[in-house]
Amino acid sequence: MSVLSVQEFLFAASGWPTQFSLSELFRSDLARQKGYDNLPTSAQLTNVRRFVSEVLLPARRVWDGPLLVLSCFRSKATNQAAGGVATSYHLANRGAAADLTTASKSAESVAELFNLLKDSATVPFAELIYYQSGTPRIHIGWDNDPQQNVRELLVKQADGSFRRYGAGGVTV
Ligand SMILES: [Zn+2]
Repeated sequence: MSVLSVQEFLFAASGWPTQFSLSELFRSDLARQKGYDNLPTSAQLTNVRRFVSEVLLPARRVWDGPLLVLSCFRSKATNQAAGGVATSYHLANRGAAADLTTASKSAESVAELFNLLKDSATVPFAELIYYQSGTPRIHIGWDNDPQQNVRELLVKQADGSFRRYGAGGVTV
């Protein structure tokens, strides 16, 4: 399936929820540096749109405040340039993913966000990652097959390794 043109993209995305702007979901500084657009196919756009309504908007309600998207959709070229794995939910081929932070961007508030989301009955996810170093943030990955949303919890530690936990199995 071919990538949408800018005009097709803007038309297909009309009526997008205002709480999460198109520019923050599809922006990629890396793509801009490398000189190409970070545009989806229509199927990828559909996945991101469902992700907004089924995951990001419920997450915002659970948090009861704005959430900032650091990175969401990555085209194949952007993902390769970023060194991402070929199965990344950021590619929006089988769901979607976002790296999120809070308005204050403090480590404490992001930990609180992680703890709220992991126990939330209204926010489905396949994987939820808490980053112990770097910009305080979480990664939430969602699958468009509900059976795959197994609520796996991971903590990325300061040495770069991941610790895996089952659903509900960690508080940060
Ligand atoms: Zn991510």
